[in-house]
Amino acid sequence: MPPTPEGRECRYVRVALDVPLPGLFDYCSAQAVEIGQRVIVPFGRRDLVGMVVDLPAAPAVAVEHVKAVSMVLDDLPAMPGDWLAMVDFAARYYQRPLGEVIMPALPPPLRKAGAYTGQRAAGGPVRRLERRLEKQRKRLERLAEQPGKSPDEPPEKCDPDSAASGHPGLGPAPAGGVNGSDSVPAIQAPSLNDEQRQAVAAIAAVEGHGVVLLRGITGSGKTEVYLHAAQRVLAGGRQVLFLVPEINLTPQLERALRARFDASGADAAGTLAVLHSGMSDGERLEAWLRAFRGEARVLLGTRMAITAPLPRLGLIIVDEEHDASYKQQDGLRYSARDLAVWRGHDRGVPVVLGSATPSLESWNHAMQGRYLRVSLTRRAREVALPAVRMVDTRRLKLEQGFSPQLLDAMERRLALQEQVLVFINRRGYAPVLSCTSCGWVSQCSRCTAYSVLHRLRGRAARLQCHHCGGQAPVPRACPDCGDLDLKPMGRGTQRIEEFLGERFPEARIARIDADSTRLKGSAAALFSQVHQGEVDILVGTQMVAKGHDFANLGLVGVLNADSMLFAQDFRAPERLFAQLMQVAGRAGRHRVGGEVMLQTDYPDQPVYRALQRHDYEGFAQYALDERKVLGLPPYSYQALLVAEGRELAHALQFLNDVRKLPEEDAGAYPMLGHIMLYDPVPLRVVRVANIERAQLLVESHSRPALQRFLAQWSEDLFRLGRESRVRYSLEVDPFEI
Ligand SMILES: [Zn+2]
Ligand SMILES: [Zn+2]
Repeated sequence: MPPTPEGRECRYVRVALDVPLPGLFDYCSAQAVEIGQRVIVPFGRRDLVGMVVDLPAAPAVAVEHVKAVSMVLDDLPAMPGDWLAMVDFAARYYQRPLGEVIMPALPPPLRKAGAYTGQRAAGGPVRRLERRLEKQRKRLERLAEQPGKSPDEPPEKCDPDSAASGHPGLGPAPAGGVNGSDSVPAIQAPSLNDEQRQAVAAIAAVEGHGVVLLRGITGSGKTEVYLHAAQRVLAGGRQVLFLVPEINLTPQLERALRARFDASGADAAGTLAVLHSGMSDGERLEAWLRAFRGEARVLLGTRMAITAPLPRLGLIIVDEEHDASYKQQDGLRYSARDLAVWRGHDRGVPVVLGSATPSLESWNHAMQGRYLRVSLTRRAREVALPAVRMVDTRRLKLEQGFSPQLLDAMERRLALQEQVLVFINRRGYAPVLSCTSCGWVSQCSRCTAYSVLHRLRGRAARLQCHHCGGQAPVPRACPDCGDLDLKPMGRGTQRIEEFLGERFPEARIARIDADSTRLKGSAAALFSQVHQGEVDILVGTQMVAKGHDFANLGLVGVLNADSMLFAQDFRAPERLFAQLMQVAGRAGRHRVGGEVMLQTDYPDQPVYRALQRHDYEGFAQYALDERKVLGLPPYSYQALLVAEGRELAHALQFLNDVRKLPEEDAGAYPMLGHIMLYDPVPLRVVRVANIERAQLLVESHSRPALQRFLAQWSEDLFRLGRESRVRYSLEVDPFEI
């Protein structure tokens, strides 16, 4: 072993740190340390937690500059090799420093130096958590010996960063609890129809790695297929990773999983763990540890769960695989779905991608034979799909955005005591406030965007910017001409709710959007009102479209879909189709005669025509043909560089500089012939919060060429970015352009 600068024996360690610098950092450790272990090291004036990713024989910098590791953290075993391989792949593929990928993949308490070195560290967060769980277990044992005492008393002491008590399924084991982590509770599964049985068999027949694209129309019982596939894997003693776009919007799925896999009273710590960003740091740590130790047999989570360590992984399920939530929009801009496919391949386990409207990328893979295609075409309850009707609004006089046809249909459904859903993807009262005499419109002072009129409680209102979150009072008079006649233009969910209250005074109306569900638990409360029949008309944004199974819903009215039809992003029609299919699928899932009415000025648009026929395949074929002609993904591969600065000119200048660079340094870019660099352009909303933004699109017909290009280019970007006044971000496989 080489000596430390102080003359002690030590060994060199290469550490990944979450700092905005490329590369890894060499230290020396007097204590034994393994690859995959965490260490605390001095960095500048701070102490940071990092992960050892290599044990080099000699440091990459001069020996006298190598500092010593402050502490080797041994509260956890070293992270396994497959986990390290995954984060390494993600860092290379998405062009980020390894430390910026590794550290955020750990629960927050495991990456805070203060959690180990502070006065109250008491051995660190893992040992504190274990002691607390042990205490809870003992307390419950005592309580069980004293009948008559309720086990619902508050715990003696609650560590501020530890799990909240009473989290369902993560709670303490009851008296006499046995460690049942190897026994899967008996499963009373409903019987499957032929299609579902074939789908389960197809998944079971996958040997090693393979991707199954499960396309099932809404109501066809995809969840049952997932559960049966999971059950087989669990029975073999392996773990299942189950990804969903957003847990809070799919409580029904979580309940189904709990009922099926977490019901055993003998093992109340359960076989299920849940991981999502709405949890406290302590809850996340607990769930993550249970996955890491193999105690949690099913890990249900949002995109962040893709990086959880799962030693006995046997199956990955990605529900609603087309959903935009799988793509992280800042920091490491990864796609959890794509990482799931990589991880399945690396671990040699099957991956099931499920959707009623698969992404065109996945569908294309299936059509090319790379994914196995399995379809569920029948509704599990044998209820016919809802009839979709276009209401051509070109020559109609609308009342607050509603056609007479839609209002009549609502009246009929309400008379039959059925529920009605009005879908409009625009929250607030009105998208803009305007002066009737001079044409002034409400605009955010910090963004190139309108500010949206929002109603508060009572009659009060304010202007709110949906881009920067900025708020302003509603002016009494026009700031330009002084006229008092300011009028809201257009309609959002609040105004629709208000109008329907006047139009249907007997009806009970609820609104579900990002505003009405801001408080924790309020979304669940609103949905449960709908399920219990306490709501007649539900007004909602896309939040209502996901996963909910409304038994008594007879009619869905869709307003303002056209606004998405001509969006500039090439994926807009795909998103619109998926969203409308999902919304339409809410109608008539339990009863015959469900109906969807879509108001449009363009009833002949292929997106709407395909929707009317419930024809995903037709739509996908049409959209793929179009993309092939235009050379767009999945027929090409893209990366998007966004630069932002105080002035647009700076951002554009930076992009022009980095665009020219590869041509000037052809030796470093031998792949340039396969790369297309577009002209930098300002973003559609140029200024947000006083920052101006521009983008540059990079495209290639070859993914390896693009990857080689980006690896070289990101080094140049870093160098130029340091000298420039702009910030930049590079996104591989951008979702929105
Ligand atoms: Zn005016
Ligand atoms: Zn703004």
